[in-house]
Amino acid sequence: MLISSPTAGSLFMVAAPSGAGKSTLVNALLAQEPAIRLSISYTTRPPRPGEEDGREYHFTTVEDFLARKAQGEFLESAEVHGNYYGTSRIVIEQQMKAGTDILLEIDWQGAQQVKKQFPNAVGIFILPPSIPALEDRLKKRGQDEPHIITRRILAAGGEMAHAPEFEYVIINQEFATALSELNAVVKATRCRFTQQSTRNAELFAQLGIHANPQ
Ligand code: 5GP
Repeated sequence: MLISSPTAGSLFMVAAPSGAGKSTLVNALLAQEPAIRLSISYTTRPPRPGEEDGREYHFTTVEDFLARKAQGEFLESAEVHGNYYGTSRIVIEQQMKAGTDILLEIDWQGAQQVKKQFPNAVGIFILPPSIPALEDRLKKRGQDEPHIITRRILAAGGEMAHAPEFEYVIINQEFATALSELNAVVKATRCRFTQQSTRNAELFAQLGIHANPQ
């Protein structure tokens, strides 16, 4: 299904290799911009220490995940680092209709699938300042087993090769700078003609501005 009708809300897709600092940046953005809804994905990955079902992810079994996928419950889904991840279709469609801004933390495979259905979705790729910095962050996070960390480091190059598919790239060298750049992308997206004219339909009508002047 292609959904390109005007909507007041924006759909942001943030992708990065593991260790680029994506989740920390996204959480800081959401603290500044509480109106943005973070989509909670389904995953078959086991919870890390401190993660809670329904907060970071809906944690589920492979069997349940595949059944949901077969029923068309996912807007997009992908296998990443040996686990399945997917975004609930119904939640996103309801929030888009309500004009809510939504943020998806997904990989490049999911971003490709979403873009086909929501061509206006905004892709943002977070890059580390260097490969050693990426490895360092992954190791210091200390939440994954060493073999999982190695697997993620090896996968990073393949993931970053997809950065050109994203409209925006943020280099997470200095956290405050990266956060302000992410915030700038959000603010610029909200100023797109489609978003502004849908959100302020009455004003645009009073001013005599129409979407497609003849
Ligand atoms: P992690 O296991 O570190 O939480 O996530 C691993 C990777 O899976 C990250 O690149 C993350 O963005 C991606 N991911 C998380 N949720 C989804 C999802 O719903 N769909 C897709 N395609 N990727 C996801």
